[in-house]
Amino acid sequence: YESLSVGELAKKLGKEPSEIIKKLFMLGVMATINQELDKDAIELICAEYDVEVEEEVRIDVTDLEIYFEDPEEEEEVPGELTERPPVVTIMGHVDHGKTTLLDSIRNTKVTQGEAGGITQHIGAYQITASGKKITFLDTPGHEAFTTMRARGAKVTDLTILVVAADDGVMPQTIEAINHAKAAEVPIIVAVNKMDKPAANPDRVMQELTEHGLVAEDWGGDTIFVPISALKGEGIDQLLEMVLLIAEVGEFTADPSIRARGTVIEAQLDKGKGSVATLLVQNGTLHVGDPIVVGNTYGRVRAMVSDLGRRVKEAGPSTPVEITGLSDVPFAGDRFVVFKDEKTARQIGETRAGEALQEQRVEKTRVTLDNLFDQM
Ligand code: GDP
Ligand code: MG
Repeated sequence: YESLSVGELAKKLGKEPSEIIKKLFMLGVMATINQELDKDAIELICAEYDVEVEEEVRIDVTDLEIYFEDPEEEEEVPGELTERPPVVTIMGHVDHGKTTLLDSIRNTKVTQGEAGGITQHIGAYQITASGKKITFLDTPGHEAFTTMRARGAKVTDLTILVVAADDGVMPQTIEAINHAKAAEVPIIVAVNKMDKPAANPDRVMQELTEHGLVAEDWGGDTIFVPISALKGEGIDQLLEMVLLIAEVGEFTADPSIRARGTVIEAQLDKGKGSVATLLVQNGTLHVGDPIVVGNTYGRVRAMVSDLGRRVKEAGPSTPVEITGLSDVPFAGDRFVVFKDEKTARQIGETRAGEALQEQRVEKTRVTLDNLFDQM
């Protein structure tokens, strides 16, 4: 926390404010209950109580959580945790083949057995490989990924690092590795452009060793898959590895609860109004659900899948495009379904009002446009 008042800190620690004031006094600080404490003072007090201060947590994350708590605190009865599809992002240096790979995966896997499915780009799509679903984010600049990370939450379960075999490790390759590591997201390396005569996969492996990614053949634990995104070669093996890591990771969710998740992308459509692609991360989203999305709210009017089909519900790890919001949210915003529209409206209006007041519209957003070109 950047700053907290004595009263707020006492509440967080579950202590009386007077006790905190006394402690501060013992430490040579005269304080009143409403006094703002700086980081050092907070850490001192927390150390007194053997409480660790979470450095990464920011003030605005805290109020998001507060707003997203149901004021009536009606306990939802949780159901069973079930397996959910892994959510995958593709990263890598410009021109190493991210877009080609995303298209290749989609073309080979989505159209199979999906007769009549007109694919539309909603910033994410789901495929089936070996009978299991995998969700891919193909949002430009991976904003959701980076913004969520800046907020201490996470949308991706694993990342495929694309490295062109004829070009090797480049600056954005290294940046991508650093981001994935910081987010603690496992990396699978796709050594691309293997069809090129100049392809040198050993060099890629050698160079990546210097960045902590050591191939299994070389005694490490990083999976390397040689592919040609252009020719569609090695894609099945790559997807098998994704499923393998998903199995180890045991990604689960509870489809019975009210949906929550993240905005992948959003825009204003002349005909439909606010259109947002949401990634459901837990629970199930239904048409008609009262929803708060970032600083906006509404009722889910219509839902469209990545295949352009109208759907009535969307479970964990499913991307879905929705209409019905009062305003356009931002990529990376979180959403939560509430039990009734009144609560959703109240919370949505409060958040919208505060956003205006504090000009939160200009909130800190980490974009990595230089890292991820238009995908
Ligand atoms: P991105 O910038 O990472 O999205 O890269 P693109 O997918 O746009 O690919 C950049 C260029 O590399 C394009 O001309 C692709 O056709 C080409 N490319 C991508 N994958 C392969 C591949 O496996 N083999 C060959 N020969 N070319 C590829
Ligand atoms: Mg691209």
